[in-house]
Amino acid sequence: MPNIPFSPPRIDQKIIDEVVDTLKSGWITTGPKVKRFEEELTRYGGHKSTLCVNSGSGGLELMLRWFGIGKGDEVIVPAYTYTATANVVVHCGAKVVFVDVDADFNIRLDEIKKAITDKTKVIIPVDLAGFPCDYEAINNLVASSAIKQYFTPTTEVQKKLGRILILSDAAHSVGAVYKGHHTGSLTDLTVYSFHAVKNLTTAEGGAVCLNLPAPFNNSVLYQELKIKALHGQSKDAFSKLKPGAWKYDVTEPGYKLNMTDIAAAMGLVELARYDDDMLKRRKEIFRLYTSAFSKYEWAQLPTFETKEKRSSFHVFLLRIRDISEEQRDQIIHHISETGVSVNVHFIPIPMLSFYRNLGYDIDKYPVSRDNFNRVISLPVYYDLTDNQVSIVIDTVIAAVERVLET
Ligand SMILES: *Cc1c(COP(=O)(O)O)cnc(C)c1O
Repeated sequence: MPNIPFSPPRIDQKIIDEVVDTLKSGWITTGPKVKRFEEELTRYGGHKSTLCVNSGSGGLELMLRWFGIGKGDEVIVPAYTYTATANVVVHCGAKVVFVDVDADFNIRLDEIKKAITDKTKVIIPVDLAGFPCDYEAINNLVASSAIKQYFTPTTEVQKKLGRILILSDAAHSVGAVYKGHHTGSLTDLTVYSFHAVKNLTTAEGGAVCLNLPAPFNNSVLYQELKIKALHGQSKDAFSKLKPGAWKYDVTEPGYKLNMTDIAAAMGLVELARYDDDMLKRRKEIFRLYTSAFSKYEWAQLPTFETKEKRSSFHVFLLRIRDISEEQRDQIIHHISETGVSVNVHFIPIPMLSFYRNLGYDIDKYPVSRDNFNRVISLPVYYDLTDNQVSIVIDTVIAAVERVLET
């Protein structure tokens, strides 16, 4: 029986050597490697500045708090995403306003328009599975005078921006391209996740890409956020190492979100080979799945490349046409019995008990519901061999045909 896991990390000698180098250096928490990783990420994304943090969720919440989000505010979030995107809004005490997604799994512009009120402060689009949202349309919408007139700023930072903030959740889409630019530089703020199952991993970790328009100074903001992400302490442990530099002050009750140099060591190795090696292999796997399944009428295949957009090939979302949720569950059951791991990304948030109990109703998000009912995520990762891809394909075809025949 094959044993094909869903998404193991790529841990090779290069990663091990760089991590061991950090362990032996005498400096394991935030230090020179985090600094270098931030610089490399800024260059890669093409945005203005990068703050590394200890998770994508932490990065999202930090930026909501920086923008002054709290009670009485509304934040627009797609109904179809991982729960982190909405949980951080709840942590801040604000109201999550879910909107439905499209057939491509990404937030719908017409639904965003309908959801905006004078309480809307932030929109968090998610590049689901790695496919970028329509950022030009979203950016133009919040900059339009028709929408700007509703904006009611209640903090200095909100006044300075003068419109709804776009905080993009790019947990899946490091390296995805929209109109020639990488995620990170496509909107005001972008958050990456480097969690173990993500394309580029540091075990746990994340980064905030700063790309705010004038009069914001993104380098100054980086310095402010660095302090906000470490207890509001004016000097980090590394700077305090220098002779005589022991004195520090605390200017605000900040958070504890800093990334370690051990994590950054992994990230540096991963980023250096990301485009030419990691993404190339992921794209090849997407191509193999696409060419195999396109022969079957029941297969609805994900879009991963258009004239304007290129995915980061994070997860392959195969949908089966005209099946029920129960049939999808049966198909997954048959696949799993063979030793092949598949998954579902994601259960729409309004279906999860916490949110259901708050009164959210999945029936208001029919496309999210339909996508969820029929979707199966297939394994995609660097070490997945062509032979294993063939096994996954054969297993999926057999399981689908078995369920469709009954
Ligand atoms: C993984 C993920 C996050 C959170 O990232 P962490 O680094 O695990 O906190 C946020 N949004 C989406 C869509 C994700 O898949």
